[in-house]
Amino acid sequence: MSNATHEAAAAALANSPTHHALPSYLQADNLGPWGIYLQQVDRVIPYLGHLARWAETLKRPKRALVVDVPIQLDNGTVAHFEGYRVQHNTSRGPGKGGVRFHQDVTLSEVMALSAWMSIKNAAVNVPYGGAKGGIRVDPKTLSMGELERMTRRYTSEIGIIIGPTKDIPAPDVNTNEQIMAWMMDTYSMNEGATATGVVTGKPVDLGGSLGRREATGRGVFTVGAEAANHIGLDISKARVAVQGFGNVGGIAGKLFAEAGARIVAVQDHGGTIYREAGIDVPALMTYVSRNGSVKGFVGAEVVSDDSFWDVECDILIPAALEGQITAANAGRIKARMVIEGANGPTTPAADDILHDRNILVLPDVIANAGGVTVSYFEWVQDFSSFFWSEDEINARLVRIMKEAFAGVWQISQDYKVSLRTATFIIACKRILHARELRGLYP
Ligand code: NAD
Repeated sequence: MSNATHEAAAAALANSPTHHALPSYLQADNLGPWGIYLQQVDRVIPYLGHLARWAETLKRPKRALVVDVPIQLDNGTVAHFEGYRVQHNTSRGPGKGGVRFHQDVTLSEVMALSAWMSIKNAAVNVPYGGAKGGIRVDPKTLSMGELERMTRRYTSEIGIIIGPTKDIPAPDVNTNEQIMAWMMDTYSMNEGATATGVVTGKPVDLGGSLGRREATGRGVFTVGAEAANHIGLDISKARVAVQGFGNVGGIAGKLFAEAGARIVAVQDHGGTIYREAGIDVPALMTYVSRNGSVKGFVGAEVVSDDSFWDVECDILIPAALEGQITAANAGRIKARMVIEGANGPTTPAADDILHDRNILVLPDVIANAGGVTVSYFEWVQDFSSFFWSEDEINARLVRIMKEAFAGVWQISQDYKVSLRTATFIIACKRILHARELRGLYP
Protein backbone atom coordinates (compact mmCIF):
# COMPACT_ATOMS: atom_id res chain seq x y z
CA MET A 1 0.00 0.00 0.00
CA SER A 2 1.29 3.50 -0.78
CA ASN A 3 1.91 6.03 2.02
CA ALA A 4 -1.01 8.14 0.83
CA THR A 5 -3.30 5.13 1.06
CA HIS A 6 -1.94 4.34 4.51
CA GLU A 7 -2.74 7.85 5.64
CA ALA A 8 -6.22 7.76 4.15
CA ALA A 9 -6.84 4.39 5.84
CA ALA A 10 -5.59 5.73 9.19
CA ALA A 11 -7.75 8.85 8.93
CA ALA A 12 -10.84 6.85 8.01
CA LEU A 13 -10.20 4.47 10.87
CA ALA A 14 -9.65 7.27 13.38
CA ASN A 15 -12.98 8.80 12.32
CA SER A 16 -14.81 5.51 12.72
CA PRO A 17 -17.33 5.94 15.55
CA THR A 18 -16.25 2.75 17.29
CA HIS A 19 -12.50 3.08 16.74
CA HIS A 20 -11.72 4.27 20.26
CA ALA A 21 -13.50 1.22 21.69
CA LEU A 22 -11.40 -1.42 19.90
CA PRO A 23 -8.89 -3.38 21.97
CA SER A 24 -5.29 -2.43 21.22
CA TYR A 25 -4.45 -5.70 19.46
CA LEU A 26 -7.08 -4.92 16.86
CA GLN A 27 -5.50 -1.52 16.21
CA ALA A 28 -1.82 -2.47 16.28
CA ASP A 29 -1.64 -3.27 12.59
CA ASN A 30 -4.69 -1.34 11.52
CA LEU A 31 -3.24 -0.05 8.25
CA GLY A 32 -3.03 -3.51 6.70
CA PRO A 33 -5.76 -5.87 5.49
CA TRP A 34 -7.62 -5.71 8.81
CA GLY A 35 -7.86 -1.90 8.56
CA ILE A 36 -9.20 -2.24 5.02
CA TYR A 37 -11.82 -4.72 6.23
CA LEU A 38 -12.90 -2.33 9.03
CA GLN A 39 -13.40 0.43 6.46
CA GLN A 40 -15.51 -1.90 4.32
CA VAL A 41 -17.73 -2.67 7.33
CA ASP A 42 -18.08 1.03 8.16
CA ARG A 43 -19.31 1.65 4.63
CA VAL A 44 -22.27 -0.73 5.01
CA ILE A 45 -23.42 0.22 8.51
CA PRO A 46 -25.81 2.91 7.15
CA TYR A 47 -27.61 0.19 5.16
CA LEU A 48 -28.11 -2.27 8.01
CA GLY A 49 -31.22 -0.74 9.56
CA HIS A 50 -32.01 -2.03 13.05
CA LEU A 51 -29.29 -4.70 12.70
CA ALA A 52 -26.65 -1.95 12.91
CA ARG A 53 -26.82 -2.24 16.69
CA TRP A 54 -24.98 -5.57 16.33
CA ALA A 55 -22.38 -4.29 13.84
CA GLU A 56 -19.60 -4.15 16.43
CA THR A 57 -19.67 -7.97 16.34
CA LEU A 58 -18.25 -7.80 12.82
CA LYS A 59 -15.27 -5.73 13.98
CA ARG A 60 -13.96 -8.26 16.49
CA PRO A 61 -12.82 -11.79 15.67
CA LYS A 62 -14.56 -14.24 17.97
CA ARG A 63 -11.35 -16.14 18.65
CA ALA A 64 -7.69 -15.83 17.53
CA LEU A 65 -5.14 -18.52 18.34
CA VAL A 66 -1.39 -18.01 17.86
CA VAL A 67 0.70 -21.17 18.10
CA ASP A 68 4.38 -22.04 18.13
CA VAL A 69 5.16 -24.75 15.57
CA PRO A 70 8.54 -26.34 16.37
CA ILE A 71 9.88 -29.05 14.06
CA GLN A 72 13.11 -30.94 13.61
CA LEU A 73 14.75 -30.02 10.30
CA ASP A 74 16.45 -32.66 8.15
CA ASN A 75 19.86 -31.41 9.36
CA GLY A 76 18.96 -32.21 12.97
CA THR A 77 18.39 -28.63 14.19
CA VAL A 78 15.05 -27.36 15.51
CA ALA A 79 13.15 -24.56 13.75
CA HIS A 80 10.18 -22.63 15.16
CA PHE A 81 7.39 -21.24 12.99
CA GLU A 82 4.52 -18.98 13.99
CA GLY A 83 1.06 -20.35 13.20
CA TYR A 84 -2.41 -18.81 13.45
CA ARG A 85 -6.05 -19.85 13.35
CA VAL A 86 -8.67 -17.13 13.60
CA GLN A 87 -12.42 -17.73 13.88
CA HIS A 88 -13.96 -14.42 12.96
CA ASN A 89 -17.64 -15.25 13.38
CA THR A 90 -19.65 -18.42 13.96
CA SER A 91 -23.19 -17.00 14.18
CA ARG A 92 -24.33 -18.87 11.04
CA GLY A 93 -22.42 -22.12 11.58
CA PRO A 94 -18.94 -23.54 12.12
CA GLY A 95 -15.88 -21.55 11.10
CA LYS A 96 -14.70 -22.19 7.54
CA GLY A 97 -11.68 -20.94 5.65
CA GLY A 98 -8.31 -21.88 4.22
CA VAL A 99 -4.80 -22.27 5.58
CA ARG A 100 -2.02 -20.22 3.98
CA PHE A 101 1.71 -21.00 4.13
CA HIS A 102 3.61 -17.83 3.24
CA GLN A 103 6.60 -15.93 4.61
CA ASP A 104 4.58 -12.69 4.90
CA VAL A 105 1.57 -14.10 6.80
CA THR A 106 0.68 -12.01 9.88
CA LEU A 107 -2.05 -12.18 12.50
CA SER A 108 -3.63 -9.04 11.02
CA GLU A 109 -3.74 -10.63 7.58
CA VAL A 110 -5.29 -13.84 8.90
CA MET A 111 -7.87 -11.82 10.85
CA ALA A 112 -8.88 -9.97 7.68
CA LEU A 113 -8.98 -13.15 5.61
CA SER A 114 -11.16 -14.82 8.28
CA ALA A 115 -13.54 -11.85 8.27
CA TRP A 116 -13.79 -11.93 4.47
CA MET A 117 -14.68 -15.63 4.81
CA SER A 118 -17.60 -14.68 7.10
CA ILE A 119 -18.80 -12.25 4.44
CA LYS A 120 -18.24 -14.68 1.56
CA ASN A 121 -19.98 -17.63 3.22
CA ALA A 122 -22.96 -15.47 4.06
CA ALA A 123 -22.98 -13.95 0.55
CA VAL A 124 -23.44 -17.36 -1.10
CA ASN A 125 -25.61 -18.47 1.84
CA VAL A 126 -23.67 -21.58 2.88
CA PRO A 127 -24.23 -22.40 6.57
CA TYR A 128 -20.80 -21.38 7.84
CA GLY A 129 -19.15 -18.63 9.80
CA GLY A 130 -15.72 -17.37 8.79
CA ALA A 131 -12.23 -18.56 9.77
CA LYS A 132 -8.71 -18.62 8.35
CA GLY A 133 -5.30 -19.97 9.30
CA GLY A 134 -1.71 -19.65 8.32
CA ILE A 135 1.93 -20.29 9.05
CA ARG A 136 4.62 -17.66 8.57
CA VAL A 137 6.95 -19.74 6.41
CA ASP A 138 8.24 -19.98 2.86
CA PRO A 139 7.34 -23.62 2.21
CA LYS A 140 9.64 -23.71 -0.84
CA THR A 141 12.57 -23.74 1.60
CA LEU A 142 11.35 -26.96 3.28
CA SER A 143 11.86 -30.58 2.21
CA MET A 144 8.77 -32.77 1.82
CA GLY A 145 9.46 -34.35 5.23
CA GLU A 146 9.85 -30.96 6.92
CA LEU A 147 6.64 -29.71 5.29
CA GLU A 148 4.75 -32.75 6.57
CA ARG A 149 6.12 -32.41 10.12
CA MET A 150 5.27 -28.71 10.20
CA THR A 151 1.73 -29.31 8.87
CA ARG A 152 1.09 -32.08 11.40
CA ARG A 153 2.42 -30.12 14.38
CA TYR A 154 0.38 -27.05 13.35
CA THR A 155 -2.76 -29.19 13.00
CA SER A 156 -2.19 -30.70 16.42
CA GLU A 157 -1.68 -27.23 17.96
CA ILE A 158 -4.89 -25.82 16.48
CA GLY A 159 -6.69 -29.13 17.14
CA ILE A 160 -8.26 -27.62 20.25
CA ILE A 161 -10.45 -25.31 18.19
CA ILE A 162 -11.00 -27.09 14.83
CA GLY A 163 -13.31 -30.03 14.06
CA PRO A 164 -16.06 -31.05 11.61
CA THR A 165 -18.71 -29.14 13.59
CA LYS A 166 -16.42 -26.39 14.92
CA ASP A 167 -14.10 -25.06 12.23
CA ILE A 168 -13.15 -26.70 8.93
CA PRO A 169 -9.85 -25.64 7.24
CA ALA A 170 -9.19 -25.89 3.48
CA PRO A 171 -6.36 -25.10 1.02
CA ASP A 172 -5.20 -21.55 0.30
CA VAL A 173 -1.93 -20.10 -1.02
CA ASN A 174 0.81 -22.76 -1.00
CA THR A 175 -1.36 -25.47 0.57
CA ASN A 176 -2.91 -28.30 -1.40
CA GLU A 177 -4.66 -31.68 -1.31
CA GLN A 178 -1.64 -33.45 0.20
CA ILE A 179 -1.46 -30.96 3.04
CA MET A 180 -5.20 -31.42 3.66
CA ALA A 181 -4.63 -35.21 3.76
CA TRP A 182 -1.93 -34.76 6.46
CA MET A 183 -4.20 -32.40 8.41
CA MET A 184 -7.10 -34.86 8.25
CA ASP A 185 -4.86 -37.73 9.33
CA THR A 186 -3.30 -35.80 12.23
CA TYR A 187 -6.67 -34.65 13.57
CA SER A 188 -8.06 -38.19 13.16
CA MET A 189 -5.09 -39.74 15.01
CA ASN A 190 -5.61 -37.34 17.91
CA GLU A 191 -9.35 -38.08 17.98
CA GLY A 192 -8.95 -41.85 17.63
CA ALA A 193 -11.39 -41.97 14.69
CA THR A 194 -11.21 -41.03 11.04
CA ALA A 195 -12.81 -37.60 10.69
CA THR A 196 -12.87 -36.80 6.97
CA GLY A 197 -15.11 -33.75 7.54
CA VAL A 198 -12.45 -31.82 9.50
CA VAL A 199 -10.94 -30.34 6.33
CA THR A 200 -12.09 -29.85 2.74
CA GLY A 201 -10.04 -29.78 -0.43
CA LYS A 202 -8.87 -33.35 0.32
CA PRO A 203 -7.83 -35.84 -2.37
CA VAL A 204 -10.91 -37.47 -3.92
CA ASP A 205 -9.73 -40.88 -2.64
CA LEU A 206 -9.89 -39.57 0.95
CA GLY A 207 -13.36 -38.07 1.02
CA GLY A 208 -12.61 -35.12 -1.26
CA SER A 209 -15.16 -33.88 -3.75
CA LEU A 210 -15.05 -34.09 -7.50
CA GLY A 211 -14.87 -30.58 -8.93
CA ARG A 212 -13.31 -29.00 -5.80
CA ARG A 213 -9.95 -28.32 -7.43
CA GLU A 214 -11.56 -26.35 -10.26
CA ALA A 215 -14.36 -24.81 -8.16
CA THR A 216 -12.89 -21.38 -7.39
CA GLY A 217 -11.81 -20.78 -10.98
CA ARG A 218 -15.20 -22.03 -12.21
CA GLY A 219 -16.92 -19.59 -9.86
CA VAL A 220 -14.71 -16.73 -11.13
CA PHE A 221 -15.70 -17.61 -14.68
CA THR A 222 -19.40 -17.99 -13.83
CA VAL A 223 -19.81 -14.58 -12.16
CA GLY A 224 -17.55 -13.02 -14.80
CA ALA A 225 -19.81 -14.32 -17.57
CA GLU A 226 -22.95 -13.10 -15.73
CA ALA A 227 -21.49 -9.64 -15.23
CA ALA A 228 -20.29 -9.52 -18.85
CA ASN A 229 -23.90 -10.07 -19.96
CA HIS A 230 -25.03 -7.13 -17.83
CA ILE A 231 -22.48 -4.75 -19.35
CA GLY A 232 -22.76 -6.03 -22.92
CA LEU A 233 -19.29 -7.55 -23.08
CA ASP A 234 -18.96 -10.55 -25.41
CA ILE A 235 -16.80 -13.12 -23.58
CA SER A 236 -16.00 -14.96 -26.80
CA LYS A 237 -14.23 -11.87 -28.11
CA ALA A 238 -12.75 -10.66 -24.81
CA ARG A 239 -9.05 -10.19 -24.07
CA VAL A 240 -8.12 -11.40 -20.59
CA ALA A 241 -5.06 -10.68 -18.41
CA VAL A 242 -4.44 -12.96 -15.42
CA GLN A 243 -2.18 -12.33 -12.43
CA GLY A 244 -1.40 -15.58 -10.61
CA PHE A 245 -1.54 -18.81 -12.57
CA GLY A 246 -2.14 -21.25 -9.72
CA ASN A 247 -5.31 -23.02 -8.72
CA VAL A 248 -7.58 -19.99 -9.20
CA GLY A 249 -5.92 -18.06 -12.04
CA GLY A 250 -5.02 -21.16 -14.04
CA ILE A 251 -8.52 -22.65 -14.03
CA ALA A 252 -10.24 -19.29 -14.57
CA GLY A 253 -7.90 -18.64 -17.52
CA LYS A 254 -8.63 -22.08 -18.96
CA LEU A 255 -12.42 -21.61 -18.74
CA PHE A 256 -12.30 -18.14 -20.31
CA ALA A 257 -10.11 -19.53 -23.10
CA GLU A 258 -12.58 -22.41 -23.64
CA ALA A 259 -15.36 -19.81 -23.95
CA GLY A 260 -13.41 -18.21 -26.81
CA ALA A 261 -11.62 -15.42 -24.91
CA ARG A 262 -7.96 -14.63 -25.62
CA ILE A 263 -5.64 -14.85 -22.61
CA VAL A 264 -3.24 -12.11 -23.65
CA ALA A 265 -1.10 -11.74 -20.50
CA VAL A 266 -0.18 -13.90 -17.53
CA GLN A 267 1.92 -12.87 -14.56
CA ASP A 268 3.11 -15.05 -11.70
CA HIS A 269 5.94 -14.91 -9.14
CA GLY A 270 8.42 -15.90 -11.87
CA GLY A 271 7.61 -13.16 -14.39
CA THR A 272 5.15 -11.80 -16.95
CA ILE A 273 4.36 -13.09 -20.42
CA TYR A 274 2.30 -11.56 -23.24
CA ARG A 275 0.85 -12.73 -26.54
CA GLU A 276 -1.64 -10.60 -28.40
CA ALA A 277 -3.07 -13.54 -30.37
CA GLY A 278 -3.73 -15.37 -27.09
CA ILE A 279 -1.59 -17.70 -25.00
CA ASP A 280 -2.11 -21.47 -25.38
CA VAL A 281 -3.54 -22.01 -21.87
CA PRO A 282 -3.41 -25.84 -21.67
CA ALA A 283 0.23 -25.73 -22.84
CA LEU A 284 1.04 -23.07 -20.24
CA MET A 285 -0.67 -25.11 -17.50
CA THR A 286 1.43 -28.15 -18.38
CA TYR A 287 4.56 -25.98 -18.45
CA VAL A 288 3.81 -24.38 -15.06
CA SER A 289 3.02 -27.71 -13.40
CA ARG A 290 6.46 -28.98 -14.53
CA ASN A 291 8.51 -25.84 -14.00
CA GLY A 292 6.78 -24.05 -11.12
CA SER A 293 6.17 -20.76 -12.93
CA VAL A 294 5.57 -19.12 -16.33
CA LYS A 295 9.26 -18.19 -16.50
CA GLY A 296 10.88 -19.72 -19.58
CA PHE A 297 7.62 -20.54 -21.44
CA VAL A 298 8.44 -20.18 -25.12
CA GLY A 299 4.88 -19.63 -26.43
CA ALA A 300 4.76 -15.94 -25.50
CA GLU A 301 7.00 -12.91 -25.23
CA VAL A 302 8.54 -11.91 -21.89
CA VAL A 303 7.59 -8.42 -20.73
CA SER A 304 8.43 -6.44 -17.60
CA ASP A 305 6.32 -7.10 -14.51
CA ASP A 306 5.30 -3.46 -14.31
CA SER A 307 3.96 -3.41 -17.89
CA PHE A 308 1.31 -5.97 -16.88
CA TRP A 309 -0.84 -3.06 -15.63
CA ASP A 310 -0.80 -1.36 -19.07
CA VAL A 311 -1.96 -4.41 -21.03
CA GLU A 312 -4.82 -3.73 -23.46
CA CYS A 313 -7.54 -6.09 -22.21
CA ASP A 314 -11.26 -6.29 -21.44
CA ILE A 315 -11.04 -8.39 -18.30
CA LEU A 316 -8.34 -8.35 -15.63
CA ILE A 317 -8.24 -11.21 -13.12
CA PRO A 318 -5.98 -10.67 -10.10
CA ALA A 319 -5.59 -14.21 -8.72
CA ALA A 320 -2.38 -14.06 -6.69
CA LEU A 321 -2.06 -12.13 -3.43
CA GLU A 322 -3.74 -9.15 -1.76
CA GLY A 323 -2.86 -5.47 -2.26
CA GLN A 324 -1.86 -5.82 -5.94
CA ILE A 325 -4.12 -3.15 -7.48
CA THR A 326 -3.16 0.08 -5.75
CA ALA A 327 -3.55 3.83 -6.23
CA ALA A 328 -0.24 3.63 -8.14
CA ASN A 329 -1.44 1.30 -10.93
CA ALA A 330 -5.29 1.51 -10.90
CA GLY A 331 -5.19 4.53 -13.23
CA ARG A 332 -3.31 2.48 -15.85
CA ILE A 333 -5.65 -0.50 -16.04
CA LYS A 334 -7.35 -0.76 -19.44
CA ALA A 335 -9.93 -3.45 -18.61
CA ARG A 336 -13.70 -2.90 -18.49
CA MET A 337 -14.04 -5.39 -15.68
CA VAL A 338 -11.81 -6.64 -12.84
CA ILE A 339 -12.72 -10.05 -11.39
CA GLU A 340 -11.10 -10.57 -7.99
CA GLY A 341 -9.99 -14.20 -7.95
CA ALA A 342 -7.57 -13.44 -5.10
CA ASN A 343 -8.67 -12.28 -1.68
CA GLY A 344 -8.25 -8.54 -1.11
CA PRO A 345 -6.28 -7.73 -4.29
CA THR A 346 -7.62 -4.16 -4.57
CA THR A 347 -6.85 -1.45 -1.99
CA PRO A 348 -9.75 0.89 -1.08
CA ALA A 349 -8.05 3.84 -2.82
CA ALA A 350 -7.67 1.74 -5.99
CA ASP A 351 -11.29 0.63 -5.68
CA ASP A 352 -12.36 4.28 -5.77
CA ILE A 353 -10.16 5.01 -8.80
CA LEU A 354 -11.57 2.02 -10.72
CA HIS A 355 -15.10 3.11 -9.79
CA ASP A 356 -14.45 6.67 -11.02
CA ARG A 357 -13.04 5.25 -14.26
CA ASN A 358 -16.22 3.17 -14.75
CA ILE A 359 -14.34 -0.14 -14.47
CA LEU A 360 -16.61 -2.76 -12.93
CA VAL A 361 -15.06 -4.63 -9.98
CA LEU A 362 -16.45 -8.07 -9.12
CA PRO A 363 -15.34 -8.33 -5.50
CA ASP A 364 -13.54 -11.32 -4.02
CA VAL A 365 -16.32 -11.97 -1.52
CA ILE A 366 -18.58 -13.11 -4.36
CA ALA A 367 -16.19 -13.74 -7.28
CA ASN A 368 -14.03 -16.38 -5.57
CA ALA A 369 -16.77 -17.98 -3.45
CA GLY A 370 -16.93 -21.04 -5.73
CA GLY A 371 -14.21 -22.80 -3.75
CA VAL A 372 -15.98 -22.61 -0.42
CA THR A 373 -19.26 -23.55 -2.08
CA VAL A 374 -17.86 -26.85 -3.31
CA SER A 375 -16.06 -27.24 0.04
CA TYR A 376 -19.53 -27.10 1.55
CA PHE A 377 -20.63 -29.85 -0.86
CA GLU A 378 -17.56 -31.89 0.16
CA TRP A 379 -18.40 -31.52 3.86
CA VAL A 380 -22.04 -32.55 3.24
CA GLN A 381 -20.87 -35.58 1.23
CA ASP A 382 -18.42 -36.57 4.01
CA PHE A 383 -21.18 -36.44 6.63
CA SER A 384 -23.52 -38.57 4.53
CA SER A 385 -20.74 -40.78 3.08
CA PHE A 386 -22.56 -40.49 -0.24
CA PHE A 387 -20.74 -38.89 -3.13
CA TRP A 388 -22.16 -36.93 -6.05
CA SER A 389 -21.14 -36.89 -9.72
CA GLU A 390 -18.99 -34.07 -11.07
CA ASP A 391 -21.84 -32.88 -13.31
CA GLU A 392 -24.15 -32.64 -10.29
CA ILE A 393 -21.53 -30.67 -8.38
CA ASN A 394 -20.80 -28.24 -11.20
CA ALA A 395 -24.52 -27.69 -11.87
CA ARG A 396 -25.21 -26.93 -8.18
CA LEU A 397 -22.16 -24.66 -8.02
CA VAL A 398 -23.19 -22.66 -11.08
CA ARG A 399 -26.75 -22.34 -9.77
CA ILE A 400 -25.61 -21.01 -6.37
CA MET A 401 -23.09 -18.59 -7.92
CA LYS A 402 -25.62 -17.22 -10.42
CA GLU A 403 -28.31 -16.76 -7.75
CA ALA A 404 -25.88 -15.06 -5.37
CA PHE A 405 -24.59 -12.77 -8.11
CA ALA A 406 -28.12 -11.85 -9.23
CA GLY A 407 -28.95 -10.80 -5.65
CA VAL A 408 -25.78 -8.72 -5.39
CA TRP A 409 -26.39 -7.06 -8.77
CA GLN A 410 -29.96 -6.16 -7.76
CA ILE A 411 -28.87 -4.58 -4.46
CA SER A 412 -26.14 -2.61 -6.22
CA GLN A 413 -28.75 -1.23 -8.63
CA ASP A 414 -31.34 -0.54 -5.91
CA TYR A 415 -28.95 1.30 -3.59
CA LYS A 416 -26.61 2.65 -6.30
CA VAL A 417 -23.58 1.15 -4.57
CA SER A 418 -20.59 -0.87 -5.76
CA LEU A 419 -20.86 -4.65 -6.07
CA ARG A 420 -18.51 -4.90 -3.06
CA THR A 421 -20.74 -2.79 -0.84
CA ALA A 422 -23.81 -4.64 -2.16
CA THR A 423 -22.23 -8.00 -1.26
CA PHE A 424 -21.33 -6.70 2.20
CA ILE A 425 -24.89 -5.43 2.71
CA ILE A 426 -26.39 -8.85 1.92
CA ALA A 427 -23.80 -10.78 3.92
CA CYS A 428 -23.70 -8.50 6.98
CA LYS A 429 -27.50 -8.55 7.21
CA ARG A 430 -27.50 -12.37 7.14
CA ILE A 431 -24.76 -12.62 9.78
CA LEU A 432 -26.30 -10.04 12.08
CA HIS A 433 -29.80 -11.45 11.66
CA ALA A 434 -28.45 -14.82 12.86
CA ARG A 435 -26.70 -12.98 15.68
CA GLU A 436 -29.94 -11.34 16.71
CA LEU A 437 -31.95 -14.57 16.53
CA ARG A 438 -29.42 -16.42 18.66
CA GLY A 439 -29.28 -13.61 21.21
CA LEU A 440 -26.42 -12.76 23.50
CA TYR A 441 -25.12 -15.44 25.85
CA PRO A 442 -25.38 -15.44 28.87
P1 NAD B 1 -1.74 -20.88 -5.67
O1 NAD B 1 -0.65 -21.05 -4.68
O2 NAD B 1 -2.25 -22.06 -6.41
O3 NAD B 1 -1.30 -19.80 -6.79
C1 NAD B 1 -0.82 -18.54 -6.44
C2 NAD B 1 -0.31 -17.87 -7.71
O4 NAD B 1 0.09 -16.54 -7.40
C3 NAD B 1 0.90 -18.56 -8.34
O5 NAD B 1 0.78 -18.56 -9.74
C4 NAD B 1 2.05 -17.64 -7.91
O6 NAD B 1 3.15 -17.71 -8.80
C5 NAD B 1 1.37 -16.29 -7.98
N1 NAD B 1 2.09 -15.26 -7.24
C6 NAD B 1 2.62 -15.33 -6.00
N2 NAD B 1 3.26 -14.18 -5.68
C7 NAD B 1 3.11 -13.37 -6.76
C8 NAD B 1 3.54 -12.05 -7.05
N3 NAD B 1 4.24 -11.34 -6.16
N4 NAD B 1 3.20 -11.52 -8.26
C9 NAD B 1 2.50 -12.23 -9.16
N5 NAD B 1 2.08 -13.49 -8.94
C10 NAD B 1 2.37 -14.04 -7.76
O7 NAD B 1 -2.90 -20.12 -4.89
P2 NAD B 1 -4.45 -20.07 -5.24
O8 NAD B 1 -5.13 -21.14 -4.48
O9 NAD B 1 -4.62 -19.97 -6.71
O10 NAD B 1 -4.86 -18.69 -4.54
C11 NAD B 1 -4.67 -17.44 -5.19
C12 NAD B 1 -5.54 -16.42 -4.51
O11 NAD B 1 -6.89 -16.84 -4.55
C13 NAD B 1 -5.25 -16.16 -3.03
O12 NAD B 1 -5.52 -14.81 -2.74
C14 NAD B 1 -6.27 -17.04 -2.32
O13 NAD B 1 -6.55 -16.58 -1.01
C15 NAD B 1 -7.43 -16.87 -3.24
N6 NAD B 1 -8.45 -17.93 -3.15
C16 NAD B 1 -8.14 -19.22 -3.38
C17 NAD B 1 -9.14 -20.19 -3.30
C18 NAD B 1 -8.89 -21.63 -3.62
O14 NAD B 1 -9.84 -22.42 -3.61
N7 NAD B 1 -7.68 -22.03 -3.94
C19 NAD B 1 -10.44 -19.83 -2.95
C20 NAD B 1 -10.72 -18.49 -2.72
C21 NAD B 1 -9.71 -17.54 -2.84
